[in-house]
Amino acid sequence: MTLARFFQRRGPKREQSNDDLPDLWSKCPNCGAQIYNKELEQALRVCPKCAFHHRLPVKKRIEALTDAGSFELTSGKVRSVDALKFTDTESYPSRLERTKKKTGRENAIMAGRATLGGLRIQLIVMDFEYSGGSMGSAEGEEITRAVEIATREKRAVVLVATSGGARMQEGALSLMQMAKTTFALEELGMEKMPYITVLTDPTTGGVAASFAAIGDVIVGEPGALVGFAGQRVIQQTIKQNLPEGFQRTEFLEEHGMIDMVLDRREHRQMLADLISTMTNQPAVEVKAIEVEVTPPPAKGGLFGRRG
Ligand SMILES: [Zn+2]
Repeated sequence: MTLARFFQRRGPKREQSNDDLPDLWSKCPNCGAQIYNKELEQALRVCPKCAFHHRLPVKKRIEALTDAGSFELTSGKVRSVDALKFTDTESYPSRLERTKKKTGRENAIMAGRATLGGLRIQLIVMDFEYSGGSMGSAEGEEITRAVEIATREKRAVVLVATSGGARMQEGALSLMQMAKTTFALEELGMEKMPYITVLTDPTTGGVAASFAAIGDVIVGEPGALVGFAGQRVIQQTIKQNLPEGFQRTEFLEEHGMIDMVLDRREHRQMLADLISTMTNQPAVEVKAIEVEVTPPPAKGGLFGRRG
């Protein structure tokens, strides 16, 4: 197959954003239950029947992890350039333009100052809707700047990761962001400020191999795919079958790669507690997200190893 045909086969992705849930009901892809959308929204898009975590739009994530009205955006001005003059089925600038129209943003990062439980934080959220959360030079620069603000102002950093990996249209420039972001985080560490990462579905490639993996505390969402290379690539390389649930957060927790797998509805309280303990400051009690009693997750669901 020629390279041109390979790209043609895939075609441009759907433009639909999942920021809003227009219909009244959704069907859970894990347990098949019909869920009233309002109930799903209140539960931060966690299925009330089986606790399956639907993808959460970036703005809702910010609401979920900050004190009401405290978020002050510090990102949004950095834009990628087409240094490699990259064209597949579409030129890179035109692809960026289309993504900008869809999301209303210049890059896949939303970062800003905020408080959580009254504690000063810098929150960095990656957006899967923007080019699969892929990391180009603009994303690396935004993360670096956000961390530098935190270092200067002595804020804890909370980073919510989701990414398909490095952005191929930027080649090596994209890979250099792995080192750049890591250096900025090193300086944050020298100021003794905590860095906590929340890994959501999916966190892969160069992001999983750099800043997402070096949090002082690493929290994973249940059932999220987290890994560097794809399962098939690894299997073909080492010529062995991989264990069930490989690269899911539960497996990574069992093997010591992440610190905890935690239901999204509990992140707010856990992050406030962690930052309070790590910075030795009292936290104001955060307003809990009201949750109906959830039955234990069904076994043998979408990922085969929940519960
Ligand atoms: Zn469900």
